[in-house]
Amino acid sequence: PNLRKIDINSVMEDIRTLMTSDALLHNIDLQFELSKTPAICEVDVEQIKQVFINLIRNAFEATGLNGKLTIAINTGMEECEICFMDNGPGIPKEVLSRIFEPFYTTKNEGTGLGLTVSYRIIQNHGGTILVDSEEGKGTTFRVRLPLARN
Ligand code: ADP
Ligand code: MG
Repeated sequence: PNLRKIDINSVMEDIRTLMTSDALLHNIDLQFELSKTPAICEVDVEQIKQVFINLIRNAFEATGLNGKLTIAINTGMEECEICFMDNGPGIPKEVLSRIFEPFYTTKNEGTGLGLTVSYRIIQNHGGTILVDSEEGKGTTFRVRLPLARN
């Protein structure tokens, strides 16, 4: 990995244009709530972008037309949290327990690798991915990454 210290807000800004045009195509309301204080983490920027894009594309595929996705970055004392909150159909319990398994997909043309790879990347960065989902309401993925030491 090619590690450097960078503000996660600027990593998100870098993919914002691309993701916004994707959202427009699907008529999805995409909102960004960046953090007021910097979220400096030591990361492989390309890998982290890949994780964010995977989570965003999954949300777009889940909500379909007229969906909504809000991405929020929050900083704490020791870590930052990047939340991806969609208003899609949610994930049934029996699916939820398997989403990080390699090749597990509920899509006709899915690879089932997006979340497996994303989880591995975040784990390699000392972080974690959590998921909360309620059927009929939506899904929130939370990526937690340790803040860099000075
Ligand atoms: P793929 O997108 O190729 O199916 P992923 O590993 O990215 O593979 O996702 C695995 C499965 O997790 C998806 O097939 C889908 O069932 C579920 N999933 C992921 N993200 C969401 C989401 N935001 N809302 C509902 N289901 C989701
Ligand atoms: Mg995917």
